[in-house]
Amino acid sequence: MQFNFIANRFCAGSSGATLPMIDPSTGEVFDEIQRSDARDIDEAVRAARNCMDSVWCKLGGVERGRLLMRLSQIVLEHADELALIEQRDCGKPTKQAKADVAALARYFEFYAGACDKLHGETIPYQDGYSVFTWREPHGVTGHIIPWNYPMQIFGRSVGGALAAGNVCVVKPAEDACLSLLRVAQLAAEAGFPAGAINIVTGYGHEVGDALARHPGIEHISFTGSPGVGTLIQQVAAERHCPVTLELGGKSPQIVFVDADLDEAIPVIINAIVQNAGQTCSAGSRLLVDELVYEPLLQRLGLAFEKLRVGPAAMNLDLGPLIRQSQQQRVWDFLSDAQVAGIPMVAQGRVVDEAPQGGYYQAPTLLRDVPIAHRLAQEEVFGPVLAAMSFRDEDEAVELANATRFGLVAGVWTRDGGRQFRMAKRIRSGQVFINNYGAGGGVELPFGGVKSSGYGREKGFEALYGFTTLKTVALRHG
Ligand code: NAD
Repeated sequence: MQFNFIANRFCAGSSGATLPMIDPSTGEVFDEIQRSDARDIDEAVRAARNCMDSVWCKLGGVERGRLLMRLSQIVLEHADELALIEQRDCGKPTKQAKADVAALARYFEFYAGACDKLHGETIPYQDGYSVFTWREPHGVTGHIIPWNYPMQIFGRSVGGALAAGNVCVVKPAEDACLSLLRVAQLAAEAGFPAGAINIVTGYGHEVGDALARHPGIEHISFTGSPGVGTLIQQVAAERHCPVTLELGGKSPQIVFVDADLDEAIPVIINAIVQNAGQTCSAGSRLLVDELVYEPLLQRLGLAFEKLRVGPAAMNLDLGPLIRQSQQQRVWDFLSDAQVAGIPMVAQGRVVDEAPQGGYYQAPTLLRDVPIAHRLAQEEVFGPVLAAMSFRDEDEAVELANATRFGLVAGVWTRDGGRQFRMAKRIRSGQVFINNYGAGGGVELPFGGVKSSGYGREKGFEALYGFTTLKTVALRHG
């Protein structure tokens, strides 16, 4: 049985109700979490406020940085334990679970170094004045986290907020929250004062909604689906609470005729099969110059056929999807493709050892997907790559921008002029040239345009979102 973590103590939720935790590799229940409600959020917000007013507001950047650095080290010391928790909770192959722990530690390390480097400016003004700005924390920040990368998203969101001088109330996803409860406990061991990091588990429409509505929450960082992002924005608007929205994507990987295919192919595949395609920035659309469309699809098809899916502990190319409804969602997309006559180029294989109850899906490569079809427009959030061809650069740009999303794009070309033109013309938060994802990019500002959200996390840029700017005008004559 798992408990909420409030004011550095594990405690039961007020309702006394629990939710089952299911292992996606087997479909079996292996643990329980608290089904918390608004009363628990209230308690967590009070603990956070007390921490802010009594201890946290007195710490300088250097002291916050030392705490974050210590937490980074403690996370690394517990890397195997955390990876095992995440592997079981989310169905992540061992290598992905380990990569997530490493990223978590790296976020804390990065933000540890940033704490004492965030400052305002002096502004030249009229004679007799001195004007300067202070970067002040919002105060008690709320963090709503999805299930696909609990540790990475906690690291970037909570790490940035703490570095900027805020305290945090976190609502992890009901499907995957065990690693975060452990990390919060490790933070207490690292010396974080009671109330700096609080975790309350439960359903989104219950406890997530209560967090978003709580008048004591002074900034909300939401990572999740566009639909829930809209709800958060509406609720926050009622009290004019600032919000950062990290939503979904339908990100294009664009391959020109002069691309280095040997370099591109493994990256293209990884960008859609990593975490079984359950990645907001998954490269789920493949736009290919018609001159290289057939040979590229042939090579990709052969590579897809070799991909293997199985239980997380087998550490194959892909683990299971998170839950049965996610598996059903992917099946629905694939059956729509069949009805529309969209050709399948190739599929990987689920290994015989995979338990019947697990939520497995073979990675699938589709071709000639019409741009208007939902497979080219909507987030599948599974390992399905939708390929289509283009005639020239203008059409590539048109197709790349022809969805409601704009999170990430990848461009493969050796033409220097085209690299710049494409980077300028694509509407998205990040553009990668001759790579994709850049190894996670803790230092690189991340976020979307259009329905992919707004505000930025990761990098130093995130600290501006986690602070508010105060201008002080001193008239001294
Ligand atoms: P989701 O929106 O269903 O849930 C995300 C979180 O919101 C969960 O903690 C959930 O409990 C909570 N929630 C649900 N309903 C709520 C409500 N009414 N009020 C408050 N909180 C509520 O998303 P998901 O299915 O967990 O995650 C998948 C989605 O997240 C995809 O769309 C994916 O692209 C997106 N995502 C985006 C990023 C990014 O950085 N842009 C990163 C990861 C995932």
